[in-house]
Amino acid sequence: MEPILVLTHADETGAALTRASLEAVTAGQALAQRLNAPLILGVVAADQAAANALAATGARILAITGPDFAQPRYASDAAALEALCRAASPSIVLAPGSSRFARVAAGVAHRLGGRIDTHITALSGDATLEVTRWFYRQRIEARLHRDGSPWFLLLEPGTNAPFNSTVAAAIVEPVAVALPAIRTTVSGLRAASAGEQTIRPDAKLLFVAGAGWTKKQPDGQVHAAEAGELILSFLSETHASLGSSKSLVDQGSDGQPVLPFLTHMNQIGQTGSTPRHPKGLSTCCHGEEPHVVGWRFVNDRRAISLDPNCGWTRGKADVVYIADAFKVMSKVNELLGSD
Ligand SMILES: Cc1cc2nc3c(=O)[nH]c(=O)nc-3n(C[C@H](O)[C@H](O)[C@H](O)COP(=O)(O)OP(=O)(O)OC[C@H]3O[C@@H](n4cnc5c(N)ncnc54)[C@H](O)[C@@H]3O)c2cc1C
Repeated sequence: MEPILVLTHADETGAALTRASLEAVTAGQALAQRLNAPLILGVVAADQAAANALAATGARILAITGPDFAQPRYASDAAALEALCRAASPSIVLAPGSSRFARVAAGVAHRLGGRIDTHITALSGDATLEVTRWFYRQRIEARLHRDGSPWFLLLEPGTNAPFNSTVAAAIVEPVAVALPAIRTTVSGLRAASAGEQTIRPDAKLLFVAGAGWTKKQPDGQVHAAEAGELILSFLSETHASLGSSKSLVDQGSDGQPVLPFLTHMNQIGQTGSTPRHPKGLSTCCHGEEPHVVGWRFVNDRRAISLDPNCGWTRGKADVVYIADAFKVMSKVNELLGSD
């Protein structure tokens, strides 16, 4: 059988592979074994040392390295992936569904006369490959098979365990790439919202803020500024990712008190995102279905709400604390700060 190629890329250090890349490697190993196909790993990084994390795979490693590949950029990344694919001649190409590769993979598939599917959550089938993905806001799960080669599959981050082994000097075959004229110079990164970046897809914990944070509290007053401080302090101590209910992010346009660091990018739910985190903590949120549908891939769900009759208590959370989130988070922050 023709080889399976797994494409990987380095993180912002340039010398280590991203977690999502290492997850794709695990998926590639399992698939190659099941289909009895050779496995080839492709690396795009500033520094060839990034490939050392793959030494223990025993697979053939092709790499394109150098300063031109330090930053994501369509022209250089597309040329690099095309060169890796031409060097490996695979029938199946697995790649992490990262923003870097999601941007170029369809174009590369087109250049190679291949096919592409994205948001893949599972690979199955013994003789032929079947892939699983979700449609309609994670409500419908579909299994697909496609003829046509090479078949590019962008794997959803968080769906495989990352390849984890001791780092050793890898035997790497450098692949030459002819870069087109580069018109784009990457001058730096700027967060989508003002201030600190709060959306962290790789975080172990999703912290969700609901509209209750900016509602009148038992003393008859709104404490939005205090709410903001409590939330940001918790995020800086834990590096959790920040999600929000729709009601809270909509409030800015309704002229109500707002938390300035939240945008619609933070919204979780039917009309928001469906992130993958091992744990989630919802605060001041009612737990209504259009919101909770976005928690489908959060494994351990906890909520803090004043309302003992909220959606979370009706079977949507594993643990619900019927308590004042201001008091609970203030105590939690105090404990985190005392480490
Ligand atoms: C078509 C459609 C799509 C939608 N899509 C989404 C979506 O993608 N995401 C989404 O989130 N919503 C969505 N919604 C809206 C959703 O139905 C809810 O209206 C919304 O999630 C409610 O937000 P909330 O729970 O933060 O606010 P509220 O319903 O106002 O609840 C606030 C909660 O905070 C609690 N509270 C207040 N003070 C405290 C305190 N000190 N301590 C602890 N708890 C406190 C209150 O008891 C209350 O339970 C959608 C609705 C529709 C119709």
